[in-house]
Amino acid sequence: MADFSVVGGGIAGLVVARRLAASGASVTVYEATDRLGGTVARHEVGGLALDAGAESFAVRGGVVVALLGELGLGGDIVEPRPGPAWLQPASGDALPLPATALLGIPADPLADDVVRVVSVSAARAAGELDTRPMGTIPLSVGSLVRERYGDAMLDRLVAPVVHGVHSMHPDALPVERAHPGLRAALAETGSLGGAVARLREAAPPGSAVAGIRGGVHRIVPALADDLERLGGEIRLGVRIDDPAALRGTAVIAAPGMPTPAAPGRRIDLVTLVVEQAELDGAPRGSGLLVAAGAPVAARALTHATAKWEWLREAADGRHVLRLSYDEAPADPVATARADAEALLGVELPVVIDAAHVTWTRPSAAAASGSVVVGETVAGSGLAGIVAQAERTAADLLAR
Ligand SMILES: Cc1cc2nc3c(=O)[nH]c(=O)nc-3n(C[C@H](O)[C@H](O)[C@H](O)COP(=O)(O)OP(=O)(O)OC[C@H]3O[C@@H](n4cnc5c(N)ncnc54)[C@H](O)[C@@H]3O)c2cc1C
Repeated sequence: MADFSVVGGGIAGLVVARRLAASGASVTVYEATDRLGGTVARHEVGGLALDAGAESFAVRGGVVVALLGELGLGGDIVEPRPGPAWLQPASGDALPLPATALLGIPADPLADDVVRVVSVSAARAAGELDTRPMGTIPLSVGSLVRERYGDAMLDRLVAPVVHGVHSMHPDALPVERAHPGLRAALAETGSLGGAVARLREAAPPGSAVAGIRGGVHRIVPALADDLERLGGEIRLGVRIDDPAALRGTAVIAAPGMPTPAAPGRRIDLVTLVVEQAELDGAPRGSGLLVAAGAPVAARALTHATAKWEWLREAADGRHVLRLSYDEAPADPVATARADAEALLGVELPVVIDAAHVTWTRPSAAAASGSVVVGETVAGSGLAGIVAQAERTAADLLAR
């Protein structure tokens, strides 16, 4: 049977390795650190087992749901509690995000909840721009929104949402990564509003994202156990610098390998466990995305105990807040506390515990000639990464 060596034991590496092993192939995963999972990780804060990285996944396409079912975790898939996410604009009060949108791109630029965020004049301008004939569809989400809806819609609404989800500006996000069907929907409907409306109508009912009771990190031991059950081998603490020297076909599942094209992006995550009864009513729903120029350093805040029922129960009256930063604040916990107070509109006198994690997301690397899976090629986000890893395994097995 074919031999495969998988470099990197994050989600992409584990998914591709498991699928190859399930077909009887001989597979070894090499992971540089002493821990599997990469950006899907667990930590304890205030005695609670929490996600230190990814905490949800997009249900689009059904691939993650199907995988969790195979791993015996299907019964633990949970939807977030109902309620909108909010936006903290550059100035003024926080507002609920518009309901009918794709990554912040509204289906109707003139809807009341859009007008409240971008202003009447910007909404009208967007409506007029989007009636023009659809020429060549731009490559990036930023160019697309600028062209069809104007700068104000991009800066005030779409950029904060894209940054919160993908940690990048819409100018760097290819249209396909916003939604695999967006380009076709644009061509068919001839307008951005029409395309978003069509994709929203086609989406299954319910939330666009889901989580796992107990935390998304539970997928990591489940994948590793299944891989080993299927005969796959896992080697921890082995950094691979020359994949060509490995046995069999090398599959690169380590973002940034072999040589990153540019310095990586940094994401700092500060988690606070607090006591504050005023948060019981979830004053900002599941949390806020923050527009550039707002008077806080955080780029997003997730009110995790308002978002996940299982966590609300586990936290037993306490609240869990996750704040993310592009640059580490000098005093992360003090800054996160002050930012959380400003964003949520409540004082937080009792911080029970806090944790600060720094992630570096390597930029895409030139990996021509290699088989590559994971964030390098699929972009940030578990749904796209799992789907691409599954496809790659199927292609390799079909060779
Ligand atoms: C704070 C944060 C929150 C996020 N939240 C979400 C979310 O809620 N939902 C969502 O869908 N996505 C989220 N993401 C994104 C998601 O976590 C990542 O896109 C995904 O986990 C990346 O998986 P990967 O396997 O491609 O890479 P990684 O997770 O980076 O795994 C790569 C692995 O390769 C190893 N490695 C690197 N170099 C070598 C080498 N030379 N030899 C051997 N091993 C090597 C690394 O140690 C690592 O374990 C979040 C990301 C961050 C940082």
